[in-house]
Amino acid sequence: MPTFHAFLLTKQDEGQSLDWTELDESELMEGDVTVSVSHSSLNFKDGLALTGSSPVVRRWPMIPGIDLAGVVRESTHPDHAPGDAVLLNGWGTGETHLGGYAELSRVPGDWLVPIPAGLTAQECMAIGTAGYTAMLCVLALERHGLGPEDGPVLVTGAAGGVGSVAVALLAGLGYEVIASTGRAEEADYLRGLGATEVIDRAELAEKGRPLGKERWAGAVDSVGSFTLANALSMTRYGGVVAACGLAQGMGLPGPVGPFTLRGGTLGGVDSVMVPKARRIEAWGRLATDLDRDLLGSLTVVRPLAEAPALAPQILAGQVRGRVVITVA
Ligand code: NDP
Repeated sequence: MPTFHAFLLTKQDEGQSLDWTELDESELMEGDVTVSVSHSSLNFKDGLALTGSSPVVRRWPMIPGIDLAGVVRESTHPDHAPGDAVLLNGWGTGETHLGGYAELSRVPGDWLVPIPAGLTAQECMAIGTAGYTAMLCVLALERHGLGPEDGPVLVTGAAGGVGSVAVALLAGLGYEVIASTGRAEEADYLRGLGATEVIDRAELAEKGRPLGKERWAGAVDSVGSFTLANALSMTRYGGVVAACGLAQGMGLPGPVGPFTLRGGTLGGVDSVMVPKARRIEAWGRLATDLDRDLLGSLTVVRPLAEAPALAPQILAGQVRGRVVITVA
């Protein structure tokens, strides 16, 4: 039986272990498409899984990696033929289904998205779940009627993965972007991505007023907690906030005034279980709307062997932009 290599997380009496392992192909999970993985990426959730600091993994043993891109090796699925370039985000990959930190992956073909024309596998993983979630947030703002003419858009966690791609996307679409970051040293980086103003995240981090000064027409929030509550309380009448993350915390400790007095909308964004049609729409927009040079400027490329060492850094908010993980 042919073998392949992968990082394998194994549950221990206390905690978990992570080992570079040779596995038998028969150990792959159910699915009608087998993919030779060339690239994966490092997301906040990968950091949680690799360090075991949050119960992200719900099947043991587990190959981590919530993203993967590569080439179809075998397929009985009508949409995917051997040789096709494909990508996958979410669907429980790296949580309940063996993930992308492996040379091979077997998955249901319905989970796969063809790599859009004009993007490489490496660029798709530079975008990864974080960047695709940023696009879902932009789509949520648009779905609720927001346009560049309505006023500035706040992006929180701006120097992180979701935040960096959101800044680049929104600026490219013509929005005035206010980037909130705790890393003052990244102000030039964020201006380079297209932010017109950079604010200190401390302005948003503590309990604020029920209704603040109206500062922006919308927001993309990857931080949650008081930051999300303050983003809402400073959103202009009729504005919209897309919320996708919890880097500060899971709570939403705020008043209802932004909704009941200012008619604001809070749009929730999940990336994991999004139906395939919306994924294809989001990836199509990423292919046309995201500036490739900016994507390159917010990306670092690291070998799979370095992923475990990078995990604590992304959880500590020390990783700038996006990390591509090369597998093959
Ligand atoms: P990153 O670590 O790359 O970015 C998170 C950023 O949040 C950091 O860079 C930092 O930005 C900011 N941040 C970190 N800690 C705090 C804190 N205590 N208070 C305020 N800001 C903080 O992660 P990702 O971009 O990959 O993910 C961001 C969030 O979005 C995570 O919570 C993740 O779980 C969530 N997410 C959700 C998805 C979904 O399907 N809903 C999909 C993808 C991500 P800065 O240094 O600029 O202040």
